Amino acid sequence: QVSFGIVYQANPHVIGLASRSLQTLRRRDFVAGAALIEGRWIAGEQRDVVVDPATGEEIADVARCTGADMHRAIAAAERCFASWRGLLPAKRGAIIRAWAKLMLEHADELAVLTTSEQGKPIAEARQEIAYGAGFLDWFAAEGERAYGETIPSHKSESLLQVRMQPIGVAAAITPWNFPVAMITRKAGAALAAGCPMIVKPAPETPLSALALARLAQDAGVPPGVFQVVVGDPVELSTPLVRDERVRALSFTGSTQVGRLLLKGAAESVKKVSLELGGHAPLLIFDDVDIAKAVNGAMAAKFATSGQDCLAANRIYVQRGIYGAFVESFAAAIAQLRVGHGLDPATNIGPMTKLAVAKKCRAQIDDAAAKGARVFSSGRGEDLGPNFVWPTLLTEVTERMLIANEETFGPVAAVLPFDSEEEVVARANASEMGLAGYVYTDNLRRALRLSEQIECGMLGINTASFTGPPIPFGGWKQSGLGREGSRHGLAEYMELKYICFGDL
Ligand code: NAD
Repeated sequence: QVSFGIVYQANPHVIGLASRSLQTLRRRDFVAGAALIEGRWIAGEQRDVVVDPATGEEIADVARCTGADMHRAIAAAERCFASWRGLLPAKRGAIIRAWAKLMLEHADELAVLTTSEQGKPIAEARQEIAYGAGFLDWFAAEGERAYGETIPSHKSESLLQVRMQPIGVAAAITPWNFPVAMITRKAGAALAAGCPMIVKPAPETPLSALALARLAQDAGVPPGVFQVVVGDPVELSTPLVRDERVRALSFTGSTQVGRLLLKGAAESVKKVSLELGGHAPLLIFDDVDIAKAVNGAMAAKFATSGQDCLAANRIYVQRGIYGAFVESFAAAIAQLRVGHGLDPATNIGPMTKLAVAKKCRAQIDDAAAKGARVFSSGRGEDLGPNFVWPTLLTEVTERMLIANEETFGPVAAVLPFDSEEEVVARANASEMGLAGYVYTDNLRRALRLSEQIECGMLGINTASFTGPPIPFGGWKQSGLGREGSRHGLAEYMELKYICFGDL
């Protein structure tokens, strides 16, 4: 039996914490809330509010751009395509690198902005800024390596070449869980490839996106090459999806919206890359050191307060160590401090969206009703409606909602298993295939599983593996295409085969 202690005293002084912090920013233009279209800052006739998800307090307002604004942005992007692609890759790289440098110089301010609107612990926000800048830096160089091929010819007197050329205007529709890095992972690749990019950020987190636009402008990114248009998702996405001038569309978010966008893009036959939901299995075998496995499970489940598409949604533990693992895991979870992300002691912040908090609670109730044991020291609502207390569910079975739908919050589901064959079948019995994790000290088993688990990214004895050089993306309903790595650059390029005959 595990007992959870009270880990946090609700602090009434958090009200106003985010707005006070935003008032201390040196860069006041980070909170001006104007959209960037063709190098001009648009205040918009109407405004939308941005709230601190921890308190519900309004912290800023931003332009509500219209479909007509988006059409202007597309036209502007098209106008600057020729000059941007015409720059030498090294010159484009220097501008992108200057942008990354400015992000790092303003890392503290960007982190406050991100935490204030997204809710994540401030240390994680700082990590996100560094991670996000890393994509710009990496792609700045990779753009110089968009090598083609020379093919040994199947015809006499001819030379066969394949070139990589920028695809044209690119669009990004981005989520709220990584409001900085999900933009730079797309924009770094697009701009390095020679493509202008228009970003429609999530309405919950526009400030981070607009601050990135300020820094892009300061870094010398020419007008129209990087634009951020904020407002209603459907009104702004429709032109991006339908317009034939937009040649590539990159989306990160839910599978449901991803499907809609893919359908919509069929009419204009554009290149679509989708980074959608996940439901990662984490397999822990009984040959492994339990402390190591617990550390892995903590990282794989509770980073970004669980609002991570890589989050372990099903933690399968082999029967021989099941009891001991649950005890140590519960003890580690009980140490997590829940609170406002701007409090440096916080490990778990609010859910950015109330709907996600409600979904977590529904999954907990469903699991409890179907026989799972629930360990938690509170319901989170004591701190505010968007809070979910870190919760451990044991004896979870596949009949429960949590074993089938993405949680996106700090609720850990542990399922016992007996054999390797059984757990591989259970791990793969999911429509999702983004990430997976395996903990084992048996090398032969690790090699077998590296082949058998159906996912785009697999961590073996590690829960941390993302970064600019790796191809990030999923199988099955988790998406199409890859971000990061040379594969991420290729999403914004077309291949052209050229045959020089008559030589
Ligand atoms: P979402 O898919 O609704 O939002 C993602 C982006 O799509 C946002 O920019 C949003 O404004 C935009 N969008 C929403 N509806 C749209 C529409 N009809 N047309 C065009 N654009 C639209 O995601 P959500 O509802 O905020 O989150 C729900 C679930 O999505 C989460 O619980 C999680 O499972 C998943 N999700 C995954 C990731 C990821 O990193 N893969 C990120 C965020 C959310």
